Amino acid sequence: MKITKEVLEQYARLIVRSGANVQKGQTVLLNIAVDQAAFAEMVTEECYLAGAKKVNVEWQCDGISRLHYSYAEQDVLATVLPWEEEKAKQMTVDLPCRIFVESEDPDSLAGISPEKISAVGQGRARVLKPYRDAIDGIHQWTIAAIPSEKWAKKCFPEETTERAMEKLWDAVLETVRIDGENDPVAKWKAHTDFISEKAAWLNAQGFAGLRYHSANGTDFTVELIPGAHWEGAASTNPRNGARYIPNMPTEEIFTSPLAGSCEGTLVSTKPLSWNSQLIENFSITFANGRAVSCKAEKGQQLLEKMIKMDECSNMLGEVALVPKESPVNACGFLFYETLFDENACCHVALGAGFKEVLPDGDSLTTKQAQARGVNDSIIHVDFMVGSDDLSIDGIRPDGTSVPIFRGGTWAE
Ligand code: ZN
Repeated sequence: MKITKEVLEQYARLIVRSGANVQKGQTVLLNIAVDQAAFAEMVTEECYLAGAKKVNVEWQCDGISRLHYSYAEQDVLATVLPWEEEKAKQMTVDLPCRIFVESEDPDSLAGISPEKISAVGQGRARVLKPYRDAIDGIHQWTIAAIPSEKWAKKCFPEETTERAMEKLWDAVLETVRIDGENDPVAKWKAHTDFISEKAAWLNAQGFAGLRYHSANGTDFTVELIPGAHWEGAASTNPRNGARYIPNMPTEEIFTSPLAGSCEGTLVSTKPLSWNSQLIENFSITFANGRAVSCKAEKGQQLLEKMIKMDECSNMLGEVALVPKESPVNACGFLFYETLFDENACCHVALGAGFKEVLPDGDSLTTKQAQARGVNDSIIHVDFMVGSDDLSIDGIRPDGTSVPIFRGGTWAE
Protein backbone atom coordinates (compact mmCIF):
# COMPACT_ATOMS: atom_id res chain seq x y z
CA MET A 1 0.00 0.00 0.00
CA LYS A 2 1.19 3.51 -0.70
CA ILE A 3 1.96 5.31 2.54
CA THR A 4 0.12 8.55 2.07
CA LYS A 5 -0.57 11.26 4.63
CA GLU A 6 -4.16 9.92 4.78
CA VAL A 7 -2.99 6.40 5.65
CA LEU A 8 -0.71 7.76 8.38
CA GLU A 9 -3.49 9.91 9.78
CA GLN A 10 -5.80 6.90 9.79
CA TYR A 11 -3.17 4.95 11.70
CA ALA A 12 -2.57 7.78 14.20
CA ARG A 13 -6.31 8.01 14.75
CA LEU A 14 -6.59 4.24 15.25
CA ILE A 15 -3.82 4.32 17.87
CA VAL A 16 -5.39 7.22 19.78
CA ARG A 17 -9.08 6.28 19.48
CA SER A 18 -9.13 2.45 19.47
CA GLY A 19 -5.77 1.86 21.13
CA ALA A 20 -5.36 4.31 24.01
CA ASN A 21 -8.93 5.59 23.78
CA VAL A 22 -7.90 9.00 25.09
CA GLN A 23 -10.68 10.61 27.11
CA LYS A 24 -11.60 14.24 27.57
CA GLY A 25 -9.37 15.93 30.13
CA GLN A 26 -6.72 13.22 30.27
CA THR A 27 -2.99 13.78 30.20
CA VAL A 28 -1.14 11.77 27.56
CA LEU A 29 2.45 10.58 27.71
CA LEU A 30 3.70 9.71 24.23
CA ASN A 31 6.88 7.72 23.85
CA ILE A 32 8.28 7.84 20.31
CA ALA A 33 11.58 8.08 18.43
CA VAL A 34 12.96 11.46 17.34
CA ASP A 35 13.11 10.35 13.70
CA GLN A 36 9.33 9.80 13.78
CA ALA A 37 8.59 13.43 14.63
CA ALA A 38 6.06 13.86 11.80
CA PHE A 39 4.05 10.88 13.01
CA ALA A 40 4.40 12.09 16.59
CA GLU A 41 2.72 15.34 15.53
CA MET A 42 -0.18 13.43 13.99
CA VAL A 43 -0.64 11.34 17.14
CA THR A 44 -0.40 14.45 19.33
CA GLU A 45 -3.03 16.25 17.27
CA GLU A 46 -5.36 13.23 17.41
CA CYS A 47 -4.96 13.18 21.21
CA TYR A 48 -5.95 16.84 21.44
CA LEU A 49 -8.89 16.23 19.06
CA ALA A 50 -9.96 13.44 21.43
CA GLY A 51 -9.99 15.98 24.27
CA ALA A 52 -6.58 15.49 25.88
CA LYS A 53 -5.69 18.13 28.44
CA LYS A 54 -1.96 17.99 27.66
CA VAL A 55 0.22 15.69 25.56
CA ASN A 56 3.76 15.21 26.84
CA VAL A 57 6.32 13.55 24.59
CA GLU A 58 9.24 11.41 25.70
CA TRP A 59 11.66 11.25 22.80
CA GLN A 60 13.73 8.15 22.15
CA CYS A 61 16.87 7.89 20.05
CA ASP A 62 18.60 4.59 19.29
CA GLY A 63 21.88 6.31 18.53
CA ILE A 64 21.99 8.31 21.77
CA SER A 65 21.01 5.25 23.83
CA ARG A 66 23.84 3.33 22.24
CA LEU A 67 26.30 6.13 23.03
CA HIS A 68 25.18 6.14 26.67
CA TYR A 69 25.86 2.42 26.94
CA SER A 70 29.16 2.76 25.07
CA TYR A 71 30.65 5.63 27.07
CA ALA A 72 28.86 6.20 30.38
CA GLU A 73 29.67 4.15 33.47
CA GLN A 74 27.25 1.42 34.46
CA ASP A 75 26.61 2.95 37.91
CA VAL A 76 25.81 6.30 36.37
CA LEU A 77 23.31 4.78 33.94
CA ALA A 78 21.75 2.63 36.66
CA THR A 79 21.21 5.63 38.92
CA VAL A 80 17.76 7.21 38.93
CA LEU A 81 18.14 10.89 39.71
CA PRO A 82 15.67 12.61 42.05
CA TRP A 83 14.00 14.54 39.22
CA GLU A 84 13.49 11.30 37.27
CA GLU A 85 11.92 9.71 40.31
CA GLU A 86 9.69 12.76 40.75
CA LYS A 87 8.57 12.36 37.14
CA ALA A 88 7.65 8.74 37.80
CA LYS A 89 5.87 9.80 40.99
CA GLN A 90 3.89 12.41 39.05
CA MET A 91 2.49 9.60 36.89
CA THR A 92 0.86 8.07 39.96
CA VAL A 93 -0.97 11.40 40.40
CA ASP A 94 -1.83 12.13 36.74
CA LEU A 95 -2.46 8.50 35.70
CA PRO A 96 -1.68 9.54 32.11
CA CYS A 97 -2.80 7.69 29.02
CA ARG A 98 0.46 6.19 27.79
CA ILE A 99 1.13 5.71 24.08
CA PHE A 100 4.28 3.92 22.97
CA VAL A 101 5.15 4.01 19.29
CA GLU A 102 7.95 1.51 18.67
CA SER A 103 10.34 1.79 15.75
CA GLU A 104 13.59 0.68 17.33
CA ASP A 105 16.42 -0.86 15.36
CA PRO A 106 16.50 -4.41 16.81
CA ASP A 107 20.32 -4.25 16.61
CA SER A 108 20.68 -0.84 18.24
CA LEU A 109 22.48 -2.28 21.25
CA ALA A 110 24.29 -5.11 19.44
CA GLY A 111 27.79 -5.58 20.81
CA ILE A 112 27.03 -3.82 24.10
CA SER A 113 27.64 -6.10 27.06
CA PRO A 114 24.35 -7.79 28.01
CA GLU A 115 25.58 -7.69 31.64
CA LYS A 116 25.75 -3.92 31.49
CA ILE A 117 22.30 -3.68 29.90
CA SER A 118 20.71 -5.93 32.48
CA ALA A 119 22.54 -4.30 35.42
CA VAL A 120 21.34 -0.88 34.28
CA GLY A 121 17.81 -2.23 33.85
CA GLN A 122 17.85 -3.86 37.28
CA GLY A 123 19.27 -0.77 38.98
CA ARG A 124 16.67 1.54 37.49
CA ALA A 125 13.85 -0.93 38.11
CA ARG A 126 14.68 -1.04 41.82
CA VAL A 127 13.69 2.63 42.09
CA LEU A 128 11.10 2.94 39.31
CA LYS A 129 9.20 -0.35 39.55
CA PRO A 130 7.15 0.65 42.62
CA TYR A 131 5.77 3.62 40.64
CA ARG A 132 5.04 1.42 37.62
CA ASP A 133 3.32 -1.05 39.93
CA ALA A 134 1.29 1.77 41.48
CA ILE A 135 -0.28 2.78 38.15
CA ASP A 136 -0.53 -0.79 36.84
CA GLY A 137 -4.12 -1.62 35.94
CA ILE A 138 -5.50 1.87 36.59
CA HIS A 139 -4.41 3.80 33.51
CA GLN A 140 -4.93 3.34 29.76
CA TRP A 141 -2.00 2.47 27.56
CA THR A 142 -1.21 1.16 24.13
CA ILE A 143 1.85 0.01 22.23
CA ALA A 144 1.91 0.27 18.44
CA ALA A 145 4.74 0.38 15.94
CA ILE A 146 5.89 2.33 12.93
CA PRO A 147 8.65 1.14 10.57
CA SER A 148 12.09 2.72 10.64
CA GLU A 149 14.76 2.12 8.01
CA LYS A 150 17.07 0.13 10.26
CA TRP A 151 14.27 -2.04 11.57
CA ALA A 152 13.06 -2.71 8.01
CA LYS A 153 16.56 -3.65 6.85
CA LYS A 154 16.89 -6.01 9.81
CA CYS A 155 13.73 -7.84 8.68
CA PHE A 156 14.64 -7.78 4.99
CA PRO A 157 18.45 -7.57 4.72
CA GLU A 158 18.44 -8.60 1.05
CA GLU A 159 16.22 -5.75 -0.05
CA THR A 160 17.05 -2.12 -0.77
CA THR A 161 16.13 0.20 2.08
CA GLU A 162 13.22 1.54 0.09
CA ARG A 163 11.82 -1.92 -0.71
CA ALA A 164 12.43 -3.13 2.87
CA MET A 165 10.44 -0.16 4.18
CA GLU A 166 7.58 -0.93 1.78
CA LYS A 167 7.48 -4.56 2.87
CA LEU A 168 7.56 -3.75 6.57
CA TRP A 169 4.91 -1.05 6.19
CA ASP A 170 2.68 -3.51 4.31
CA ALA A 171 3.09 -6.07 7.07
CA VAL A 172 2.46 -3.57 9.87
CA LEU A 173 -0.69 -2.20 8.21
CA GLU A 174 -1.91 -5.72 7.41
CA THR A 175 -1.57 -6.79 11.03
CA VAL A 176 -3.31 -3.65 12.34
CA ARG A 177 -6.08 -4.14 9.79
CA ILE A 178 -5.61 -0.96 7.80
CA ASP A 179 -6.33 -1.56 4.10
CA GLY A 180 -6.92 2.01 2.99
CA GLU A 181 -10.58 1.26 2.29
CA ASN A 182 -12.65 0.10 5.22
CA ASP A 183 -12.79 1.85 8.54
CA PRO A 184 -10.12 0.23 10.72
CA VAL A 185 -11.89 1.34 13.90
CA ALA A 186 -14.92 -0.81 12.91
CA LYS A 187 -12.68 -3.73 11.96
CA TRP A 188 -10.97 -3.57 15.31
CA LYS A 189 -14.35 -3.64 17.01
CA ALA A 190 -15.22 -6.92 15.19
CA HIS A 191 -11.79 -8.37 15.93
CA THR A 192 -11.86 -7.52 19.62
CA ASP A 193 -15.45 -8.84 19.88
CA PHE A 194 -14.30 -12.22 18.48
CA ILE A 195 -11.46 -12.38 20.99
CA SER A 196 -13.78 -11.39 23.86
CA GLU A 197 -16.17 -14.19 22.87
CA LYS A 198 -13.38 -16.80 22.99
CA ALA A 199 -12.12 -15.41 26.29
CA ALA A 200 -15.65 -15.59 27.72
CA TRP A 201 -15.89 -19.25 26.68
CA LEU A 202 -12.58 -20.05 28.38
CA ASN A 203 -13.67 -18.22 31.52
CA ALA A 204 -16.96 -20.12 31.60
CA GLN A 205 -15.07 -23.44 31.43
CA GLY A 206 -13.17 -22.71 34.63
CA PHE A 207 -10.20 -24.84 33.64
CA ALA A 208 -7.80 -25.85 36.40
CA GLY A 209 -4.95 -26.47 34.01
CA LEU A 210 -3.72 -26.89 30.44
CA ARG A 211 -1.94 -29.72 28.68
CA TYR A 212 0.22 -29.01 25.60
CA HIS A 213 1.37 -31.56 23.07
CA SER A 214 3.23 -31.30 19.78
CA ALA A 215 5.29 -33.71 17.66
CA ASN A 216 8.30 -31.38 18.07
CA GLY A 217 8.75 -32.55 21.67
CA THR A 218 6.47 -30.16 23.52
CA ASP A 219 4.88 -32.12 26.33
CA PHE A 220 3.80 -29.82 29.11
CA THR A 221 1.17 -29.26 31.75
CA VAL A 222 0.51 -26.10 33.69
CA GLU A 223 -1.86 -25.27 36.53
CA LEU A 224 -4.03 -22.17 36.34
CA ILE A 225 -4.95 -19.84 39.21
CA PRO A 226 -8.45 -20.69 40.45
CA GLY A 227 -10.79 -17.84 39.51
CA ALA A 228 -8.24 -16.02 37.35
CA HIS A 229 -9.57 -14.66 34.05
CA TRP A 230 -8.53 -15.14 30.48
CA GLU A 231 -8.17 -11.78 28.81
CA GLY A 232 -7.64 -10.57 25.33
CA ALA A 233 -7.47 -7.58 23.07
CA ALA A 234 -9.25 -4.97 25.13
CA SER A 235 -8.88 -3.91 28.75
CA THR A 236 -10.93 -1.49 30.80
CA ASN A 237 -9.58 1.29 32.96
CA PRO A 238 -11.58 0.80 36.18
CA ARG A 239 -11.15 4.50 37.08
CA ASN A 240 -13.20 5.80 34.13
CA GLY A 241 -14.57 2.70 32.37
CA ALA A 242 -12.62 3.47 29.17
CA ARG A 243 -11.92 0.40 27.00
CA TYR A 244 -8.43 0.40 25.52
CA ILE A 245 -6.26 -1.98 23.49
CA PRO A 246 -2.84 -2.42 25.08
CA ASN A 247 -1.20 -3.94 22.03
CA MET A 248 -1.74 -3.23 18.34
CA PRO A 249 -1.58 -5.71 16.72
CA THR A 250 -3.05 -8.22 19.16
CA GLU A 251 -4.28 -11.73 18.47
CA GLU A 252 -3.78 -13.39 21.84
CA ILE A 253 -5.97 -14.52 24.68
CA PHE A 254 -3.88 -14.84 27.79
CA THR A 255 -3.86 -15.45 31.49
CA SER A 256 -1.23 -15.74 34.18
CA PRO A 257 -0.77 -19.37 35.24
CA LEU A 258 -0.16 -20.42 38.83
CA ALA A 259 3.50 -19.55 39.38
CA GLY A 260 5.48 -22.57 40.42
CA SER A 261 3.05 -25.19 39.12
CA CYS A 262 4.05 -26.65 35.78
CA GLU A 263 5.88 -29.71 34.53
CA GLY A 264 7.44 -30.86 31.30
CA THR A 265 9.12 -29.46 28.23
CA LEU A 266 8.23 -26.60 25.93
CA VAL A 267 9.94 -26.48 22.54
CA SER A 268 10.21 -23.07 20.89
CA THR A 269 8.90 -22.76 17.36
CA LYS A 270 10.27 -19.31 16.48
CA PRO A 271 13.56 -17.59 17.25
CA LEU A 272 13.56 -15.30 20.26
CA SER A 273 15.21 -11.91 20.10
CA TRP A 274 16.30 -10.76 23.57
CA ASN A 275 18.55 -7.76 24.32
CA SER A 276 19.31 -7.47 20.60
CA GLN A 277 20.52 -11.06 20.43
CA LEU A 278 18.93 -14.17 19.01
CA ILE A 279 18.14 -17.39 20.82
CA GLU A 280 17.24 -20.11 18.34
CA ASN A 281 15.92 -23.66 18.34
CA PHE A 282 15.58 -23.99 22.06
CA SER A 283 13.61 -25.88 24.62
CA ILE A 284 13.04 -25.32 28.31
CA THR A 285 12.22 -28.05 30.78
CA PHE A 286 10.28 -27.29 33.94
CA ALA A 287 10.00 -29.20 37.21
CA ASN A 288 7.96 -28.07 40.21
CA GLY A 289 7.06 -24.95 38.28
CA ARG A 290 10.59 -23.74 37.66
CA ALA A 291 12.79 -23.94 34.59
CA VAL A 292 15.42 -26.49 35.54
CA SER A 293 17.21 -26.90 32.22
CA CYS A 294 17.35 -25.38 28.80
CA LYS A 295 18.97 -26.21 25.52
CA ALA A 296 19.52 -23.79 22.65
CA GLU A 297 21.26 -24.35 19.33
CA LYS A 298 22.10 -20.66 19.38
CA GLY A 299 22.25 -18.35 22.40
CA GLN A 300 22.60 -20.98 25.14
CA GLN A 301 24.36 -18.62 27.57
CA LEU A 302 21.94 -15.83 26.90
CA LEU A 303 18.99 -18.12 27.58
CA GLU A 304 20.56 -19.31 30.83
CA LYS A 305 21.18 -15.72 31.88
CA MET A 306 17.60 -14.76 31.09
CA ILE A 307 16.23 -17.59 33.19
CA LYS A 308 18.46 -16.55 36.11
CA MET A 309 17.77 -12.80 35.97
CA ASP A 310 16.17 -12.90 39.41
CA GLU A 311 14.58 -15.33 41.85
CA CYS A 312 11.33 -15.67 39.90
CA SER A 313 12.49 -15.28 36.30
CA ASN A 314 12.51 -19.09 36.00
CA MET A 315 8.73 -19.25 36.50
CA LEU A 316 5.97 -18.49 34.03
CA GLY A 317 3.94 -15.30 34.13
CA GLU A 318 1.83 -15.83 31.03
CA VAL A 319 0.22 -18.47 28.85
CA ALA A 320 -1.33 -17.20 25.62
CA LEU A 321 -3.45 -18.73 22.88
CA VAL A 322 -3.01 -17.52 19.29
CA PRO A 323 -4.40 -19.49 16.33
CA LYS A 324 -2.01 -20.27 13.49
CA GLU A 325 -4.19 -18.17 11.10
CA SER A 326 -2.93 -14.99 12.79
CA PRO A 327 -2.05 -12.30 10.20
CA VAL A 328 1.33 -11.96 11.94
CA ASN A 329 2.00 -15.65 11.28
CA ALA A 330 0.83 -15.17 7.68
CA CYS A 331 3.51 -12.49 7.22
CA GLY A 332 5.97 -15.34 7.58
CA PHE A 333 9.02 -13.44 8.80
CA LEU A 334 10.50 -12.52 12.16
CA PHE A 335 9.76 -8.90 13.08
CA TYR A 336 12.44 -8.84 15.81
CA GLU A 337 9.82 -7.07 17.89
CA THR A 338 7.78 -8.88 20.54
CA LEU A 339 4.72 -6.76 19.85
CA PHE A 340 4.42 -8.57 16.52
CA ASP A 341 6.28 -11.81 17.07
CA GLU A 342 4.27 -12.78 20.17
CA ASN A 343 1.10 -12.52 18.10
CA ALA A 344 2.25 -15.11 15.57
CA CYS A 345 1.28 -18.19 17.56
CA CYS A 346 0.72 -19.68 21.01
CA HIS A 347 3.32 -18.62 23.53
CA VAL A 348 4.24 -18.45 27.18
CA ALA A 349 6.31 -15.87 29.03
CA LEU A 350 8.95 -16.30 31.65
CA GLY A 351 8.84 -13.69 34.38
CA ALA A 352 6.21 -11.25 35.57
CA GLY A 353 2.54 -12.09 35.32
CA PHE A 354 -0.51 -9.83 35.18
CA LYS A 355 -2.33 -9.11 38.43
CA GLU A 356 -5.36 -7.84 36.50
CA VAL A 357 -6.28 -11.45 35.62
CA LEU A 358 -7.39 -11.85 39.25
CA PRO A 359 -11.02 -10.75 39.74
CA ASP A 360 -9.94 -8.15 42.33
CA GLY A 361 -6.50 -7.70 40.77
CA ASP A 362 -6.72 -3.97 40.25
CA SER A 363 -6.98 -3.37 43.98
CA LEU A 364 -4.07 -5.65 44.87
CA THR A 365 -0.46 -4.68 45.30
CA THR A 366 2.06 -6.65 43.26
CA LYS A 367 3.12 -8.45 46.47
CA GLN A 368 -0.49 -9.45 47.25
CA ALA A 369 -1.00 -10.73 43.70
CA GLN A 370 2.21 -12.69 44.00
CA ALA A 371 0.90 -14.37 47.14
CA ARG A 372 -2.10 -15.48 45.06
CA GLY A 373 0.10 -17.09 42.41
CA VAL A 374 0.80 -14.31 39.90
CA ASN A 375 4.53 -14.36 39.23
CA ASP A 376 6.62 -11.23 39.71
CA SER A 377 10.00 -10.60 38.14
CA ILE A 378 11.93 -7.82 36.45
CA ILE A 379 11.68 -9.75 33.18
CA HIS A 380 8.73 -10.72 31.03
CA VAL A 381 9.99 -12.59 27.99
CA ASP A 382 7.59 -14.26 25.59
CA PHE A 383 8.60 -17.27 23.55
CA MET A 384 6.61 -19.06 20.88
CA VAL A 385 5.48 -22.66 21.22
CA GLY A 386 2.64 -22.73 18.66
CA SER A 387 3.06 -25.20 15.83
CA ASP A 388 0.82 -26.52 13.05
CA ASP A 389 0.06 -29.65 15.06
CA LEU A 390 -0.09 -28.16 18.56
CA SER A 391 -2.92 -29.49 20.65
CA ILE A 392 -3.97 -27.91 23.91
CA ASP A 393 -6.47 -29.45 26.28
CA GLY A 394 -8.19 -27.68 29.10
CA ILE A 395 -8.23 -29.77 32.26
CA ARG A 396 -11.27 -29.41 34.45
CA PRO A 397 -11.01 -29.50 38.25
CA ASP A 398 -12.43 -33.08 38.16
CA GLY A 399 -9.59 -34.20 35.87
CA THR A 400 -11.62 -34.53 32.65
CA SER A 401 -10.33 -32.63 29.64
CA VAL A 402 -11.77 -30.53 26.83
CA PRO A 403 -10.00 -29.80 23.51
CA ILE A 404 -9.11 -26.10 23.19
CA PHE A 405 -6.64 -26.21 20.31
CA ARG A 406 -6.22 -28.86 17.63
CA GLY A 407 -3.79 -28.58 14.72
CA GLY A 408 -2.55 -25.21 15.97
CA THR A 409 -5.92 -23.50 16.03
CA TRP A 410 -9.23 -23.35 17.91
CA ALA A 411 -10.72 -26.85 18.19
CA GLU A 412 -14.15 -25.31 17.57
ZN1 ZN B 1 1.52 -12.55 25.28
